[in-house]
Amino acid sequence: MSSRVIRKTEAERRSAVMPDPEAARADFSWQTARDLLEGMPGGGLNIAYEAVDRHVAAGFGAEIAIRWLGKDGTARDLSYQELDGQAARFANVLTAHGLRRGDRVFALMGRTPELYAVALGTLKAGMVFTPLFSAFGPDPVRTRMEIGEASALVTTATIFVRKIAAWRAEIPSLRLVLIVGETAPDGCVALAPAMANAPDRFATVATAEEDVALIHFTSGTTGRPKGVVHVHQAVLSHALTGRSALELTPGTSYWCTADPGWVTGTSYGIIAPLVNRCMMVVDEADFDLERWYATLERERVAVWYTAPTAIRMMMRAGEGPARGHDFSALRFLASVGEPLNPEAVIWGKKVFGHPFHDNWWQTETGGIMIANTKAMDIYPGSMGKPLPGITAAIVGHRNATLAELGPGEIGELALRPGWPSMMRAYLHEAARYAKCFVDGWYLTGDLALRDAQGYFWFIGRADDLIKTSGHLIGPFEVESALVEHPAVAEAAVIGLPDETAGEVVRAYVTLNASFFASEALEQDIRAHARRRLGPSVAPREVVFRENLPKTRSGKIMRRLLKARELGLPEGDISTLETDEK
Ligand code: ATP
Ligand code: MG
Repeated sequence: MSSRVIRKTEAERRSAVMPDPEAARADFSWQTARDLLEGMPGGGLNIAYEAVDRHVAAGFGAEIAIRWLGKDGTARDLSYQELDGQAARFANVLTAHGLRRGDRVFALMGRTPELYAVALGTLKAGMVFTPLFSAFGPDPVRTRMEIGEASALVTTATIFVRKIAAWRAEIPSLRLVLIVGETAPDGCVALAPAMANAPDRFATVATAEEDVALIHFTSGTTGRPKGVVHVHQAVLSHALTGRSALELTPGTSYWCTADPGWVTGTSYGIIAPLVNRCMMVVDEADFDLERWYATLERERVAVWYTAPTAIRMMMRAGEGPARGHDFSALRFLASVGEPLNPEAVIWGKKVFGHPFHDNWWQTETGGIMIANTKAMDIYPGSMGKPLPGITAAIVGHRNATLAELGPGEIGELALRPGWPSMMRAYLHEAARYAKCFVDGWYLTGDLALRDAQGYFWFIGRADDLIKTSGHLIGPFEVESALVEHPAVAEAAVIGLPDETAGEVVRAYVTLNASFFASEALEQDIRAHARRRLGPSVAPREVVFRENLPKTRSGKIMRRLLKARELGLPEGDISTLETDEK
């Protein structure tokens, strides 16, 4: 735990959407969230209606919904009106091909404007949207389409031919394949002409709050990805947390760097910003240091939501490339997905003038649960506090029942069920779903502690905890100490079996630009870790790597490092970044 603190100024506090999180908590009711929404005229709640229809109806159709930045350097703006029209056309295409309410529409494509029309059109039609990373290979796509019983797939011709064509006929539920562009292979439908011929108006289906809207697959960091079911009511959480945790207000220039294939890229890369009538920047390209700095500057991005892996990549290149850029439009920076090392929080302040605000949530929770909000002082390394409406605790087994643990005690992070974006099921895994709920708590599978001030600190995944010579070690603590060393860019820490100690700590690190692996450097890093952590917690060995294995959503896969080290089966690696395979 870090003793450093970044105090917010009175002006920062006052400018926050939620100036006093504690007071907001005390006064909270979910009605506050409902007030941010419209509801459908004849009753019913539909995410797409809240995200686009109602803004157009209220006269905001000309405002920019999406500023799309193509890989090739071109840019295109879509107004709310245009996005609404495109989504309506897509909804009409689906129904014209016989798809019905509740059918499942999978998207396997890059971040092109069509993807956003597909997402919103699917929801307008009362169907279920499931985005997948376009980089997934044929097997991960097939498995997910089987688990999710896909009714329709939207993809590109290249992806279709390379990854889908061979087994398309073997998915009995799949009735329609739409291909982005003017032409399509046999048996598929070309999307562009179909959209052009479809009306740009569609009566959005008056879905009920509990109707299924989204299926997301988890990142696969700890094992086989689970299919997580979310309902339209989730939009309450998206609307509210977009405001309270991310400072999204109408007109905000906002950039979420996540792909919709990861839940973050849908909850906060489509729904929350549109519901809050922001202008969202969508970059078709993947991480590129210079491009990212230029985008932040040119698009006058005010709120930026990204992930630790990207922040570490920026840090790896040093401050040099950021110099000379004008980041004066930025007013809030946030991060999610993995523990955010204290160094990274502080680096944000140095380079962008604002610290990164870490927040915590999962595919299962559908939206942000614990956050450092703009008005809160930040203790770098802490995930923040539960948002209004969310009750979180650290629990542990005491005499066979689950009990809340006190400040400073490590236990499992648990949440009181009942917020709107809570998952409603794991597809085909009823028993696993049921096991998440014990004694009135939802168990997250993450270990954490809460300090005396109510801040939550991530310790590690329950599976990643290391037990050595009577100590319990969370990999995050060790990794954070390692990345403080000037040479270390990223670190992954695992426990390896050891006869005397039970387990010993082994670290894998990548190096910053201008550092090279050597025995002397390895010793120096270990010495640094011993000074910071003490001899029993510091890694016994530090191994240099060019890259660490990561999921598509950028999370370090410690289980894979461990399996490889021990010669064990690798388990499900469907989400491994392709360059690692
Ligand atoms: P799988 O469940 O398939 O193993 P996953 O848990 O990585 O994959 P996601 O739902 O994308 O899938 O990620 C949620 C998890 O990410 C959390 O349970 C937590 O372990 C980690 N996480 C998210 N945000 C943070 C954060 N701010 N600090 C630490 N860990 C985080
Ligand atoms: Mg998980």
